[in-house]
Amino acid sequence: MLQAVVWTLRCLPHSNPGLFVRRQSSRVAQRGVLAKRVAVLTGSTDGIGFAIARRLAQDGAHVVISSRKQQNVEHAVATLQGEGLSVAGTVCHVGKAEDRQRLVAKALEYCGGVDILVCNAGVNPFVGSTLGASEQVWDKILDTNVKAPALLLSQLLPHMEKRGNAAVILVSSVSAYFPIVELGAYNVSKTALLGLTRTLALELAPKNIRVNCLVPGVIKTDFSKVIHCNEAIWNQLKQSHQLQRIGKPEDCAGLVSFLCSEDASYITGENIVVAGCSSRL
Ligand code: NAP
Repeated sequence: MLQAVVWTLRCLPHSNPGLFVRRQSSRVAQRGVLAKRVAVLTGSTDGIGFAIARRLAQDGAHVVISSRKQQNVEHAVATLQGEGLSVAGTVCHVGKAEDRQRLVAKALEYCGGVDILVCNAGVNPFVGSTLGASEQVWDKILDTNVKAPALLLSQLLPHMEKRGNAAVILVSSVSAYFPIVELGAYNVSKTALLGLTRTLALELAPKNIRVNCLVPGVIKTDFSKVIHCNEAIWNQLKQSHQLQRIGKPEDCAGLVSFLCSEDASYITGENIVVAGCSSRL
């Protein structure tokens, strides 16, 4: 009961007082650049998404995490709540319309609105030549990596619009700038996200919704094992890395927090590379 009251007070003035989150930490951060903001994240029970979730919550946001597997959601929620952070979670496979709907519903139920959306979930089910990728592979990659962020945002839009000052972060990859051999369809999907960022930034600016894009380089996670666990590949890649090391998920998290904060209130439509090397002319 006390926790429910604490949660409600923390969400004010935005929340509907009748709606409570069920599992919340009692030691929620009240200060921070994201205090009282509500953040929804996809693909956030591990790797880069998890590090971003932790950082947004440490910076004061109430965070709703999600991924495909219930046990991963429960584990991630328990870990972050154990750190005293304000976190709830639900299952959401971003490629499934009903799951996206549930994520929206849960976020509203937990806190009555959403200020921040981080679309981090991304897949690459195929390694091989671009023209060797089947239609199913193309569909899966484009559905998950490109269509799902747009569809989820369209479901959240009316609620974000109501808050009057929202931020969206898409997650691309340096493979959008420098295509990686044998990851053709993935490279293309990540390039499409750069276009989606600029297009949405233009369309949503009148609604005071900013849209920016995190562009990670090689970051040490399960997803990138094939690169960082192979010494030959990594030694070759290292040549182009001024900082000469593999990135950590935490290297991405501070940038996302900044882009969602008031300090970034005049930044939209940007793609920002976090890769230990320079990427522009
Ligand atoms: P990761 O460590 O493998 O974590 C992936 C997370 O997403 C997990 O929480 C996973 O949990 C969830 N997930 C996977 N498929 C999902 C789906 N269809 N719907 C919802 N959740 C899903 O991956 P990561 O390296 O952090 O990558 C995160 C993002 O960064 C991706 O978009 C990736 O393309 C991008 N990226 C990564 C690197 C890198 O070097 N690591 C570089 C550039 C870009 P469940 O299994 O429970 O679903």
